[in-house]
Amino acid sequence: MNVDQAELRKFGDLAARWWDPQGPMRPLHDINPVRLEWIDRLAPLAGRHVLDVGCGGGVLAEAMARRGAVVTGIDLAGKPLRVAQLHALESGTSVQYREIAAEVLAAEQPSAFDVVTCMEMLEHVPDPGSVIASCAALVKPGGAVFFSTINRNLKSFALAIVGAEYVLNLLPRGTHEYAKLIRPSELITLARGAGLELLDLVGMQYNPFSKVATLGPDTDVNYLVACRRPA
Ligand code: SAH
Repeated sequence: MNVDQAELRKFGDLAARWWDPQGPMRPLHDINPVRLEWIDRLAPLAGRHVLDVGCGGGVLAEAMARRGAVVTGIDLAGKPLRVAQLHALESGTSVQYREIAAEVLAAEQPSAFDVVTCMEMLEHVPDPGSVIASCAALVKPGGAVFFSTINRNLKSFALAIVGAEYVLNLLPRGTHEYAKLIRPSELITLARGAGLELLDLVGMQYNPFSKVATLGPDTDVNYLVACRRPA
């Protein structure tokens, strides 16, 4: 199976603090509004069937449900999923969470979703191409698929790993491994190989002091990719 158990353990250990806005998952909360707006602009969410792959504690999944989407969130880490379920209950949001691999769900429910999102997850799996292909299989023809991850270069190493994990303590040490970071060209090649068309590539700047995230043309560190499955 396309999973790294050490990665799941890492996220499992953080599960209890997933929704702590000052905690180790704070960057996910800080980047959530800007990525939600971007997704909702390219693929209006209200009334759509949306799948969130690698949903973790459900920060994006819940936000999309609040926009009126019918959301399913999947992950292979049990603890974050249970936190997600509990949080949805507390916040009165309706999201269906399942512990299932994207590859398995793709075989079970091909072409079932209007929109598929897979954010900050590809850099944690052994074979990101397999996840990308599964996302392409899960979305309906004409539907949209969104990815986000971290670029691989000296600047991203300095900012996303050394800066964020060792200098500013924004993320727990060991969160990201340099060799697993993915260049935009690599991600786009994998997406095209899975039959997807590129809709948008945009960079994300996260200011570690103001904690504000903005989208822009600089894809050197964090970036997002929007694709479409041809109709
Ligand atoms: N997508 C969420 C969480 C990102 S954290 C967000 O952006 O808010 C990365 C998530 O990927 C974790 O929840 C982790 O458990 C999950 N993950 C790692 N490997 C996975 C795999 N092989 N299959 C499914 N989820 C995985």
